[in-house]
This record gives sequence, C-alpha cells and structure tokens, in this order.
Amino acid sequence: MALAPLIHESPKTKKSRRPSASRADTDQTPRYSAAPSDEDPESSYPHPSGKTERQLARAGRIAERQVDRAIRSLGRLTQGGRSSDQRNFRAVFGEPEPARIDEVLQTFHKLKARLADIDSQESLDLRVAPEDEAECQSSLAYTSPGDKRIVFCDSFFELDPKQRGLSLIHEFAHVEGLRSDLYSDSRVFDLLATEPAVDGEREYALRNAESFDRFAAFASGVARPTWIDDDAQFVDRRNAWSGERDPGLESLVRRALAYAEQWVLWGREDLGRIAHGKAPTADQKLLLATIARITPDVSTPWSTIVVDIDSKLGQLESAVGGTMKVELLPSCKLGLSPRYHDAADVPQATISRLRVGPEFADQAPVRRVWSLLSAMLTSFGIDGLDTLDWLKFLRHAADQHVGELRSGPSDLDPTPATRPACPTAPDDFEDL
Ligand SMILES: [Zn+2]
Repeated sequence: MALAPLIHESPKTKKSRRPSASRADTDQTPRYSAAPSDEDPESSYPHPSGKTERQLARAGRIAERQVDRAIRSLGRLTQGGRSSDQRNFRAVFGEPEPARIDEVLQTFHKLKARLADIDSQESLDLRVAPEDEAECQSSLAYTSPGDKRIVFCDSFFELDPKQRGLSLIHEFAHVEGLRSDLYSDSRVFDLLATEPAVDGEREYALRNAESFDRFAAFASGVARPTWIDDDAQFVDRRNAWSGERDPGLESLVRRALAYAEQWVLWGREDLGRIAHGKAPTADQKLLLATIARITPDVSTPWSTIVVDIDSKLGQLESAVGGTMKVELLPSCKLGLSPRYHDAADVPQATISRLRVGPEFADQAPVRRVWSLLSAMLTSFGIDGLDTLDWLKFLRHAADQHVGELRSGPSDLDPTPATRPACPTAPDDFEDL
C-alpha cells in the first residue's frame, strides 16, 4: 500500500503542512508523517543560498505586505471597520473587542519586525532541508515553538509566491512562541474563534499559529473564511443534514463531530510516526496490541501492524469530516445509530449515516465525542469491549494535545450537561 504523508505536527516540531488539496485526496488512505529525530541533524543543513535565498527574500517581502494588510484591517477595526474586516476577524479570533484586536495587532507587529530580518538573519536561523529529510514528507517547513531556526523543505519553494508568504507567517508565528498548531482544514479550527479563554490562558485562537496565517490570507484577499456567512454567522457546511429541525441539537452534534475528527487526526498522527519507524511507547504498545489482538511483544514490526488500524481511522476521519449524513430524530431512546455501508455500489466502505436522538444533548460534552466515535466504530462491526480499546487509543493520542481545550468550558470539558432532553438521562460523566 502506498503511504501518502500524514500532514500533522509532531510534538517536537511545528510545521506548515502542505496545502489542503493533499488532505482531500488522501482522506481514505493512511497519511503518515515523518518520525521525529532525537538528534539535531538540522544544525548541519545549509543556509539558503543562490536561488533559495532569493526566493526566501521575495517570500519575506510578500509576507510583509500580507502582514501590512492584516495590520491595516486591524487598524480599521479599532474604528469599527468594514464588514469584511469584521467578518474575517470573527471567523478567526471571535468578537472584535478592543483588547482582542490589540493583542492580535501586537502579534502582527512582532511578525513584521521579524520578517524584516530575513535578509540579515540576526534573529533567525534559516536552513534548507536535504531532499531526503523525513520531516519533509509531510511539511512545507518546520520549526519548534520559540526556536529561531526554520527549516524549509523543497515543497515550500514549489508553492506559489502568495502561499509562500502565508507559510512564512505561519512559521514565524511559531518562532514568536505560538505553540498551538490546529490547521484550518480541520473543522475544530472553525470553532476556535468561539473557544473561551481558560484559567488565565490566552484564548486558543490567539495561541494558534495558523490563526495568524489565515487572518493575513483573508485580509489580503488570498482566501475567504468559508465557515462564516456575510452576516458573520457561523455556518458549518459539512455533512448533509436531515430530520428534525433542532438548531440546539445540531450545534451539539457539529461540535462533537469536530472534536471527534480531531481525536482521529491525532490518533493517525501517532500511527504515522510509528509507521515511519518510531518505536511505540509502552502505553501505545498495550493499546495497539489490544486493538490488533496480538501480544505486545509480537515480532511483527509495529510499522506493519498500524497500517490496518490507520485505514479504519481514515474511514472515521472521512465520515466525520463530511461524507456521513446526519439525521436528527425527534424521539428519545434512539440514541446514535450510524450505518456502515459496504455495498458493491460504493467505491469504499463508508459510514453513511448517523442518526441522533435528543438524548445526545443529555451527555457531558466529552461524552458526546466518545459516544459518537463509539457508535461509528460499532458500525464497523467492532463490538462493545473492542470499541473501548479503540477509544482508549484515540483518547490517549488526544491527551497529548488536548489539555488546553479540555481545561475550560469547551466541548471537552467533563462537566455534565445541565438540561436533560429525555426523561431518563444517561449517567453523568464517567471515568473516560
Ligand atoms: Zn505549525
């Protein structure tokens, strides 16, 4: 089986990933990232020179102009702004309140100052990766948060100039210390603008590198936020919906789908590293061995074992990401019942439909994610206890990343729902 690259960050390095086209056409196939190295091979990589140096300098100037457009848009917003300024800001950062505008503005000013240093590189260490650099299987460029070194892959230089500029903004945001790396083609990104700040932390969108890259893209007219309509209302166009008209329930299902997708993405990210030779941790071994029904000291390479698991997760990702139809039901006691479609008339086995009853609203937010994935796994013919093993693996993967999102009143907050929609609500949050 050909292994297309997985397009997610490793815990050690943050990287721009390839444009989202590579995601669309690999939804059903394993998308493996490179295994992060324990050494520091990049210190020997060459600095840009000749053509790559000129291309980077040019990309820097384009990025500066894109940042200028963002700064001008933010300046207008302090005076109210145009409707497009407001829409772009709402899509990425939330309500355009003075303190929030100011914080975004300050970050863009830092980015601008840093971009001006591309030529002299006094505060930067730019490198060009060799052709066989493993990280470059899934990245355009990569860096570690707060590190001044950015490594550029061949694929970066193949981008069109505007995208190179945006990719620079993304990497430079990491250099400025922004750690979060939720990408704009995962649906959780669309929700970031409404994720509240938690425990004195800055709001999630303000810590996410891609948020700045995207705002600059919108402000400079390179792209438009598709999840916000002209009245700046949130519009999720993924999945086809039918049945009861219940905006409250629909919103809960959409949020659960978004987080479910993210759990799957993070699970696949872990599998990707293992597929590329990284040894699984003891926890991962146990979890994967249970899923694959083998003993943890099996002689088969883990890189082989994870391929089938990743293939199933690819189907889950595809389903939650849009192919699954969702039907809202009016009566209680129907719960979740996805249909698994494996007929000859569809090219690939898919989870084709999810039916959701009002008791979905009775569950704690994190429980909704859990039960959604559980129902989908069950529809693959994976039964009760086995489903739990898969969920534990996904939860384990998500735990590495999700702390920030869980620690506040977000969808992953284990606070029980307060409004039972059905007479006999299920138990409160359990020990997930
Ligand atoms: Zn990144």
